[in-house]
Amino acid sequence: MSGQIKYSVIVPMYNEEEVIDHTYGRLKEVMDSAGEPYELIFVNDGSRDRTADKTALIASVDPNVRLIDFSRNFGHQIAISAGMDYAEGDAIVVIDADLQDPPEIILAMIDKWKEGYEVVYGRRLKRKGETMFKKLTALAFYRLLRSMTNVDIPLDTGDFRLIDRKVCDVLRGLKEKNRFVRGLISWIGFRQTSVEYVREERFAGETKYPLKKMIGFALDGITSFSYKPLKIATYLGFFLSLGSFIYLLVVLYQRLFTSTTEAGWTSIVAINLLFNGIILILLGVIGEYIGRIYDESKDRPLYIVRETLGYKEQAAQDRPERAEAPRRANQDGR
Ligand code: UDP
Ligand code: MG
Repeated sequence: MSGQIKYSVIVPMYNEEEVIDHTYGRLKEVMDSAGEPYELIFVNDGSRDRTADKTALIASVDPNVRLIDFSRNFGHQIAISAGMDYAEGDAIVVIDADLQDPPEIILAMIDKWKEGYEVVYGRRLKRKGETMFKKLTALAFYRLLRSMTNVDIPLDTGDFRLIDRKVCDVLRGLKEKNRFVRGLISWIGFRQTSVEYVREERFAGETKYPLKKMIGFALDGITSFSYKPLKIATYLGFFLSLGSFIYLLVVLYQRLFTSTTEAGWTSIVAINLLFNGIILILLGVIGEYIGRIYDESKDRPLYIVRETLGYKEQAAQDRPERAEAPRRANQDGR
């Protein structure tokens, strides 16, 4: 580590060609005003547009800018993790590329950090310009997650936050593949506080989190931190067995003491459908966990880097271990 850089700002980008210039401008202004050495780490998460070219251009004129270019789209949470592998600063900030999180808030985060907090997360007071659906699902998600997990994941916070080098180092040591970064940061602990802000509208372009990605993200969040969905099987199984046993008594009574037993077809079909449905759902729940165990056991690298820009040769040798393996593989192939 160079030891020179005070702040690292990580910006994950997926098809953000429309915003990158503006985002860079705002971030530069804010970080210049902080008055200490910094680096802007743009992680290009396999964009299909000109995001990488535009960032490369910026990196070629501004020595504070780095580009980590992924070989394909690995996902937002992994892009953030890669940024942390490369970050050299004493404090590391994660911010979205679309300017929904106002860069000016970083200064307030830095103040809190200087007071001694090791994690300063941005807490959204309001979300502007997002659809009702997005707001409602986000609301439901954060409450659900909170009720399901033992980890104290703060409500209404995204990944916009500042973390101390110590927290970053611990986080980098957590090797799990299905990463839910904000949950991991809560789990790690340390002195945490928040800065409140209003979430702005996206500067340009559209959300890179369609419903499908959001569901995947929610499942990662819940399964990474909770076994409760698995317990549902136990509880349901217990109650259904109890109910079945009572119904069995009823049926036996009818068979032995009345003459109404042949009218049973509807109830058999209904019970069959109900139980089959429940069993399939529970198998699905178990499958979600097994799938994730499978992911972890394969031990593939978290991401693959095509190239990095903005690093001097010397500094490049100090790159962290996890990021180095894929880089070496790349150099051979070039
Ligand atoms: N992003 C990414 N990889 C992805 C999806 C999103 O790096 O696969 C980035 C995106 O470029 C943005 C941030 O993650 O900087 C948050 O995405 P977005 O603003 O689209 O999500 P929203 O704010 O709508 O939840
Ligand atoms: Mg956004």
